[in-house]
Amino acid sequence: TIRWGLVGASNIAREHVINAIRANGGEVVSVMSADAGRANAYAAANGIPSATDSLDALLSRDDVDAVYISTTNELHRDQALAAARAGKHILCEKPLALDLSDAHRMVDAARAAGVVFATNHHLRNAGAHRAMRTAIAEGRIGRPLAARVFHAVFLPPFLQGWRINAPAAGGGVILDIAVHDADTLRFVLQDEPESVVAMTQSGGMGEGGLADAVMTTVTFRSGLIAQTHDAFTAKYAGTGFEVHGTEGSLIARDVMTQKPVGSVVLRNESGEHVIDFDRGDLYVRALGAFHGAVRGEGEPAATGEDGIRSLAFGLAVAEAAKTGGTVKVETGL
Ligand code: NDP
Repeated sequence: TIRWGLVGASNIAREHVINAIRANGGEVVSVMSADAGRANAYAAANGIPSATDSLDALLSRDDVDAVYISTTNELHRDQALAAARAGKHILCEKPLALDLSDAHRMVDAARAAGVVFATNHHLRNAGAHRAMRTAIAEGRIGRPLAARVFHAVFLPPFLQGWRINAPAAGGGVILDIAVHDADTLRFVLQDEPESVVAMTQSGGMGEGGLADAVMTTVTFRSGLIAQTHDAFTAKYAGTGFEVHGTEGSLIARDVMTQKPVGSVVLRNESGEHVIDFDRGDLYVRALGAFHGAVRGEGEPAATGEDGIRSLAFGLAVAEAAKTGGTVKVETGL
């Protein structure tokens, strides 16, 4: 059994990751929050036997093998560095950090400590995206020329906190959503983004100039071009992911989501063909791969390097939006 400590009494842990740990035979032994009262309440509500407001206390426990870091984004770096020092395996939320060199430090520290480090990019665990990756790799759309990602959603009121009002916590739509687009595009296309142009919007939700929507155009190594639209403010847009090739198009709807839902259609010379895909829980699959990696069997679904790459993309998008220019995606890898 792999025994987990939660760093952060977060919504994402409560809604998805605690269940995914348990579904894979893992155990959640403790939760850490900056606030002792919230830690206790969270532990009681989620059947976790212990709670603490001290990261050191959590990390010094012998019965914690791995930590899941899902605090606000500015805290990930120091918490991950401390976990690596303590010899704990690490599943860290995206964005790994606010700065690329910090993300490198985190991944390097885990490697030096000999622990597994993974980034919780859930979408590459979706059956829809895996089916699209396979279809492209099999040549079913010929040579991919363009991709379009529709990831403009509405941030529900209970999440309208640090994401829209705290730049220092890494708020804003780019580090929240665009980094997921980057990871999903990389995964589905098996290609790397090279440069971006972008424009942001503060459309009524983001405070103090924080972007609540962004549109980006990206060039990839193969020459493919992609566009993405991310938002907190689009109540009725729906999500989607499309890849257009010389011999066909893949049209996926409702697939930029945490749930294993949506549809994928291949459209080509002979008409429209529905592509079936696995409907398993995205987070359960991620935690299964993580547990395997801890046991020495394979890699996590998204590695630390994947987290560095998606952060590099997000930082390039932010820079491009600020300067109005074309910005190269520099990963430092
Ligand atoms: P939450 O806002 O739920 O939690 C983040 C932190 O905010 C918690 O660690 C907690 O601090 C603090 N907090 C939570 N509730 C309260 C409250 N009522 N009062 C005061 N403080 C509170 O964030 P999310 O779960 O939405 O996101 C956490 C991380 O996970 C982020 O890095 C985000 O980018 C990522 N994320 C990833 C997703 C994915 O699918 N990969 C999806 C959603 C988020 P403390 O622990 O100190 O109590």
